[in-house]
Amino acid sequence: MWTPAPCYGHQSTTVPMAADAHPVEDLICLTVDVEWAHPEVLADLTRAFDERGLRATLFCTHPNIPAGNHERALHPNFLKHGDTMRLLSRQHTDSEAWSESHVYDFVVRHTKTFCPEAIGVRSHSLFYDNHLAPTYRSHDLRYDSSVFFPFMPNIAPVRTRCGMLELPIFYMDHIDIVDRMTDFRLASLRLGQPGLKIFDFHPNIVFINAQSNDDYLASKPYYHDVERLTEMRRPGRGVRTVFLELLDYVAGRQRQALPLREVCEMIA
Ligand SMILES: [Zn+2]
Repeated sequence: MWTPAPCYGHQSTTVPMAADAHPVEDLICLTVDVEWAHPEVLADLTRAFDERGLRATLFCTHPNIPAGNHERALHPNFLKHGDTMRLLSRQHTDSEAWSESHVYDFVVRHTKTFCPEAIGVRSHSLFYDNHLAPTYRSHDLRYDSSVFFPFMPNIAPVRTRCGMLELPIFYMDHIDIVDRMTDFRLASLRLGQPGLKIFDFHPNIVFINAQSNDDYLASKPYYHDVERLTEMRRPGRGVRTVFLELLDYVAGRQRQALPLREVCEMIA
């Protein structure tokens, strides 16, 4: 039982007073934070999905990202030195006096032009602020996937403020290379655990088969240089190895991966 209450900042929505979890028995979702990747680098990942008949969610950082069979969602960049904030300072010289909510509204509105059909969001760097939920709802976004619970069993979608559905992340490649959570083997991914298991990959990290954060940092000056990135691809086990093994595993399962939009619609 929950009592509806008005959502501050978004008057047309009613929300539960208490967060409301929706248990999931066993579900894998494949997601990509596009991270301004070169089209060929992103295509390397989407091709791997397509070759196996898998559908993923692409969190978009820029326009003209081909959706194919995949879902496009938003990857807004709220960071001070990010591209969207620089655009804001150029377009609105008075923006330093703006409220946080006003700034967030600008960033989400701008990012939504990249994929107007989006109903989901994951903020770059998993940025969070309490004012974001009403901003997201006012742009007709229905789910957020910006909370990271590494390898936690029984992760469930949770209805939070303003009716937003939080779909927490289970594995992130970048944190794997920073914190060395796995040895890049399928057996380390705890796929037998119950609950929702959302995997989050980054195109350049997969492309170079990064084995450490140093590998990734060394590749950053050549972020859009596909030839150089190809030369920098690491031999042996790395993020690319485990990414491809995971895709083979999911493709071979009876119950395949769902784009996050479909998880959201299943629960709504
Ligand atoms: Zn990001």
